[in-house]
Amino acid sequence: MGVPISQMWTVARYVLTQKLKGKKRYPLVLMLEPLFRCNLACAGCGKIQYPAHILKQNLTPEQCFSAVEECGAPMVSIPGGEPLLHPQIKEIVEGLVARRKYIYLCTNALLLKEKIDLFKPSKYLTFSVHLDGEKEHHDFSVCREGGFDIALEGIKEAVKRGFRVTTNTTLFDGTDPVSVRRFFDQMMEVGVEGMMLSPGYSYEKAPDQEHFLGRAKTRTLFGTILSNRNKKWRFNQSPLFLEFLMGRRSYVCTPWGMPTYNVFGWQKPCYLLQDGYADTFSELLSQTQWEKYGAESGNSKCANCMVHSGYEASAVDDTFGSLRGFLATVRATVFGGTYANASALEALEQTVESRPGRLVELKVTATRRVPRETADAQDMSSPQS
Ligand code: SF4
Repeated sequence: MGVPISQMWTVARYVLTQKLKGKKRYPLVLMLEPLFRCNLACAGCGKIQYPAHILKQNLTPEQCFSAVEECGAPMVSIPGGEPLLHPQIKEIVEGLVARRKYIYLCTNALLLKEKIDLFKPSKYLTFSVHLDGEKEHHDFSVCREGGFDIALEGIKEAVKRGFRVTTNTTLFDGTDPVSVRRFFDQMMEVGVEGMMLSPGYSYEKAPDQEHFLGRAKTRTLFGTILSNRNKKWRFNQSPLFLEFLMGRRSYVCTPWGMPTYNVFGWQKPCYLLQDGYADTFSELLSQTQWEKYGAESGNSKCANCMVHSGYEASAVDDTFGSLRGFLATVRATVFGGTYANASALEALEQTVESRPGRLVELKVTATRRVPRETADAQDMSSPQS
């Protein structure tokens, strides 16, 4: 089991309360981006391509706390950029722990060993370390030789000190499923609490536009990786979302489930697209034209998307919204299961071990716009580091 009982209980109680109140749209995880600055320049990242005056900006702890309180989600993911570069990350984390939010601090872990004394182990704090597979694949993905080894040292130190540690892995076209499965074994041996997975999304700003997965390829890849599982593997996310990635169930996107707040405000409609910003969370909910988004909408930007920030909240909603979903979650969580699949096994056996440089070309693009006037206005009003 990859998620502690206390966290599961908090989330279950929260979702059931929203349902009893008849709320159709409710947030599950706040994606809080306190900065866009990073100490890596990954080829698949769309967050670090902003001009220097934007990259210099930080959300203040007070801005973070008011976004968290306004939103009310029980979980807060802190991506970026690299949150450990934020000069007040200690205050932000302490403030969120005091508010009893389950925090996933998403880090590339290059600074984890150096900064770990800033933090105290807590059931509310998890370091979610970005690792895109085995050493060679990760280093290629993040364009940094030696990045894997540094991150691994950080993970070991955090585990040794009693912190909750998970990994988060983004998979692209050309991923070697055999290697990913070996990577899962390695992470379990190192002692991480659980792993998180998502297919990559084609940010227009990402330097590498050629290795993003379409939906059919996503299902095939995740089906090959996640079928015939090693029972020791633990995942720190909804089992139904993993089944969605494997093509075993369908969901519609619920982007309000993981709303994004950053130096521009509340991002419409989701973590990935930028169709404007709202000043408040309630404005985001009421003024976004949600019907324009999701694979079924016909919006080309959403056509190939299966990422966790759009679909994991849909899976959690299914768990608590139907007896079938609940029983499927209980079965997968409590009894595990290997997801035996002969054709996936055959695909694994036929996999030719690939090196990162031999990724297959696939062109899927999406538009990503930063409203100039919003950026300028925010630049003048936000604190600088
Ligand atoms: S389908 Fe993907 S890109 Fe489209 S709104 Fe949902 S999460 Fe965003």
